[in-house]
Amino acid sequence: MADLTGLQIFKYLPAAKKLPEGNCKKCGSPTCMAYALKLAKGQAEIEACPNFPEDLKGLLEQSLKKPQKEVYLGKGQQKILVGGENVLFRHDKTFVNKTAIAIVLDTSDKDFDKKLKRYADFEIERIGDIFKVDLIYLKGNITKECTDKIEEKNIAWAGENDLSEMMLVKENGLAETVNELTKIRKKAVLEKDEAYSSPVMMYFEHDENLYRLMAKASFYLCKYANLLIFEDFNEAMFSTLMTLRQNIYTDPQKPLQVESKVYEFNNPDENSLVFLTTNFALTYFAVANELEALNRSSYLVITPSDGMSVLTAWSAEKFTAEIVAKTVRKFKIAEKVKHNKIIIPGLLAHLRDEIQEELPEYDKLL
Ligand code: SF4
Repeated sequence: MADLTGLQIFKYLPAAKKLPEGNCKKCGSPTCMAYALKLAKGQAEIEACPNFPEDLKGLLEQSLKKPQKEVYLGKGQQKILVGGENVLFRHDKTFVNKTAIAIVLDTSDKDFDKKLKRYADFEIERIGDIFKVDLIYLKGNITKECTDKIEEKNIAWAGENDLSEMMLVKENGLAETVNELTKIRKKAVLEKDEAYSSPVMMYFEHDENLYRLMAKASFYLCKYANLLIFEDFNEAMFSTLMTLRQNIYTDPQKPLQVESKVYEFNNPDENSLVFLTTNFALTYFAVANELEALNRSSYLVITPSDGMSVLTAWSAEKFTAEIVAKTVRKFKIAEKVKHNKIIIPGLLAHLRDEIQEELPEYDKLL
């Protein structure tokens, strides 16, 4: 059962049922409706109403239960958090804890050190996120020597017996498996059925065909595995899965953005071009790609614009002449180059005079 709204609660209260005790004010609220609204927000107690219906009590208890448990994984210093999801679709609200991606490492493997180094060296930055192996799943005899080596690399680890709070779903063909995963998530989120409240993990045995493996894992990452454990390690496969995961686990209400700062392309110096745009990630990467390919060096000044694209930021007053001037001064652009030209977004060419007024030292806005 999803959380009850104030209106849903009100339907059970005496005033809605036209009982004589309705709106008696004994709960401290002027009406049953006011009390219902407070209760839905967690600002009132059930005990405050002496006429509280028993059937509503049961429903509320059910609604207050957590849909899916959150579980910390990792026996050593490093921990990761999985589960805690409370929606079926990311656009309903947001997903909470990203699907963890783990790699198997056998303690008896003669290449233990070599493999561990390879897993630890895998690190990619994408739109402000660092992609890394989330967890090492240890097989075999777990010795302190092995776990110390992993902890030195700052990676979480767990043994075969340390995942008892997770629910293992075995692969049984793509369609069957997705049906099973969907059933579990629906039971957890919509019915808050405790039998299905554990986060879900899947184990992928060695597969010669990495494309097939990745296709399956991508599907289960979208619907609805919380932990994927692989016997195969491949940097391209992991980075692809993590890119997919990043797209799913970002909050749809918060646009992807990059840090507001000065980015450098092709070793800039005092003669380099200066470009300026907003911190919307897509805008940044579109411009950055062009600047990288340019046969000139350049600086790219990124304004703080709440992750909005150029025109949206302008219409929301997040890209104004004042903000541009403040940003250019904050990053001391005048000290980086010996010319007085800044290239502003073409869509906002009409801001040229306004910016020039705010920044009299830059008399060439292009
Ligand atoms: Fe309604 Fe109960 Fe409050 Fe009386 S005490 S107003 S019945 S909610």
